[in-house]
Amino acid sequence: MLKRVDLGRNYRNHKDEYMKAIEEVCEETAFSGGKFADKFDQEFAEYIGVRAATGVDNGTSAIQLAMLALGIGPGDEVIVPANTYIATAWGVTYTGAIPVFVDCTEDTWEIDPAAIEKRITEKTKAIIGVHLYGQPFEFGEVKEIADRHGLYVVEDCAQAHNARYEGRMVGGLGDIGCFSFYPGKNLYAFGEAGSVTSNNKKYIDYIDILKNQGCKVRYYHDVVGYNMRMEGIQGAVLSVSLKYLDEWTRRRQDIGYRYLRGIVNPMIRRQEHPGNTESVFHLFVITVPDAEDFLRFMDEREIECNRHYPVPCHLQQAYAHLNYRKGDCPNAEYLAEHCITLPMFPEMTEDEINLVIDACNEYNN
Ligand SMILES: *Cc1c(COP(=O)(O)O)cnc(C)c1O
Repeated sequence: MLKRVDLGRNYRNHKDEYMKAIEEVCEETAFSGGKFADKFDQEFAEYIGVRAATGVDNGTSAIQLAMLALGIGPGDEVIVPANTYIATAWGVTYTGAIPVFVDCTEDTWEIDPAAIEKRITEKTKAIIGVHLYGQPFEFGEVKEIADRHGLYVVEDCAQAHNARYEGRMVGGLGDIGCFSFYPGKNLYAFGEAGSVTSNNKKYIDYIDILKNQGCKVRYYHDVVGYNMRMEGIQGAVLSVSLKYLDEWTRRRQDIGYRYLRGIVNPMIRRQEHPGNTESVFHLFVITVPDAEDFLRFMDEREIECNRHYPVPCHLQQAYAHLNYRKGDCPNAEYLAEHCITLPMFPEMTEDEINLVIDACNEYNN
């Protein structure tokens, strides 16, 4: 069976290097925060090209902390795309603010700038754009709307490490960037981790305090804080992996373009990749008329696929109290019903890539 994503291959390729890094953390007992987490913060800020980055315990916390740093809380509204992983919305809800879901475009499957303006009220404080599946959203238009209404723009970069919009790396385009290093993301920890990035050091300094139980000086708590520090072992593992991220990205792009060229079945539709962006192909998502049938077909060919995501945020049970209805975000709803995620990871072999392309082209139910 070809896995949708096989993390074991990378571990085995670089096992000695990872083990040495983990051992160093143990030798120095720098387990929570500490020098290895700090070192990664510096490396990551430099890599993304922002003034500062601060490591946190996961990507969901990164979004929550970004909201708090912008002063968002009860009574506020934040625009969020309906087709994203639910954690984008959790980060808003945890602060007491309300996520307001908007549709995606029909072709890029990214947040639709035209849908945003209709949902802006006097309570709206920010827009969270998600660079979904590794493809940057139309930042320029979103930023223009935000500026016109005096709103912050936060980038959810959990799926888009190293992706570019008009030549600039995501994570430093908006007011704050939020990253996840969950296993399976393009850059990942050996456990849970995340990072918040910004060119405005004021936000990062405040998040440094918030994530550390609300204190700058130990046992003196200036604000109500959280325990959301990054673990030392995750920092050390991420420092090793960051060196390979460019190489992994190129490999994902190679596979992505092979799929785009090779899959010519008219029943299969793909995400559009506008010319002013560079996708990092975190997930290769297609739509088919009957997703369940396609999953069975691929399973028979020993190819594991899955679905991102079968239910759009505005129709999730957890948000039933917000009273959205089917039909409110038609493009996101279509995508949820018809999406399939094909195998995609840097260590795929030529034979495996061809296996996926051939199976897709043979499908004709
Ligand atoms: C993975 C992901 C998150 C959450 O990250 P965690 O580290 O799992 O908390 C948020 N947003 C998007 C779009 C994601 O894909």
